[in-house]
Amino acid sequence: MLKTTKKRTTCKVLDIRRLTESTAVLRFERHGLDFEPGQYIRVGIEGDPEIRDYSVYSGSGDDYLEVLVRRVEDGLVSKQLCDLGPGEQVDVGGPYGHFKLVEPIRSAPLLFIATGTGISPYHSFAASYPELEYRLVHGTARLEEAYEAAFYGDRYFHCVSRGEGGDFQGRVTDYLRTLDVPTATNAFLCGNCDMIYEAFDLLQEKGLPTAQIHTEVYF
Ligand SMILES: Cc1cc2nc3c(=O)[nH]c(=O)nc-3n(C[C@H](O)[C@H](O)[C@H](O)COP(=O)(O)OP(=O)(O)OC[C@H]3O[C@@H](n4cnc5c(N)ncnc54)[C@H](O)[C@@H]3O)c2cc1C
Repeated sequence: MLKTTKKRTTCKVLDIRRLTESTAVLRFERHGLDFEPGQYIRVGIEGDPEIRDYSVYSGSGDDYLEVLVRRVEDGLVSKQLCDLGPGEQVDVGGPYGHFKLVEPIRSAPLLFIATGTGISPYHSFAASYPELEYRLVHGTARLEEAYEAAFYGDRYFHCVSRGEGGDFQGRVTDYLRTLDVPTATNAFLCGNCDMIYEAFDLLQEKGLPTAQIHTEVYF
């Protein structure tokens, strides 16, 4: 039976896709939760007061919710979420946030930049708006962290900072330095704050107005 507390709903885990040793996509019941692509929800283990923010990974038309979670070994919530199995329950609240693709931005040239699990809102954008024109630059430490990259086809560009492989060897910001960014572009930055601060400055130096740079800081 659906159990709802103040702005929180208990949802059954339907599936867990383990993408790497430390990262998984957790799928759970949606119970009609309405969100706009790019927004985040609060998720925790059922009954546990500790909850954390996770961008929705699934599309707005899906009848389930998904989040992409990286396991932080000394963390209080992410590890427990990654260890869940089908049939277990999570508490979910939200949605929250303004990291969205509002019109007319949706039809502008779009550059999506992410580090690690910061790719999650772009997965939701692409799943929700199949006609979307965009370029996605994803920075990870290792090659195997190109989470479900095939979904984005040739729009996906992988910067790998440690080890071989990918489309570029180095950090996202190293690649951004080499990139021509038309001034009509709307750039979206999501992930860790060091990347976001540096990329923000680089994009401004390339002539992008502040209003065309959208950010979502994870940690
Ligand atoms: C708006 C928003 C959306 C977010 N969306 C996602 C998401 O889609 N997927 C996701 O995995 N996380 C996401 N996060 C981070 C998430 O909320 C938690 O901080 C993270 O899961 C760690 O929680 P924890 O309880 O396990 O660790 P805590 O006990 O809270 O410990 C936090 C420590 O983990 C580090 N940390 C936090 N996130 C990461 C990460 N992704 N990779 C490496 N180290 C990290 C921090 O530096 C901090 O030292 C988001 C954060 C915000 C603010």
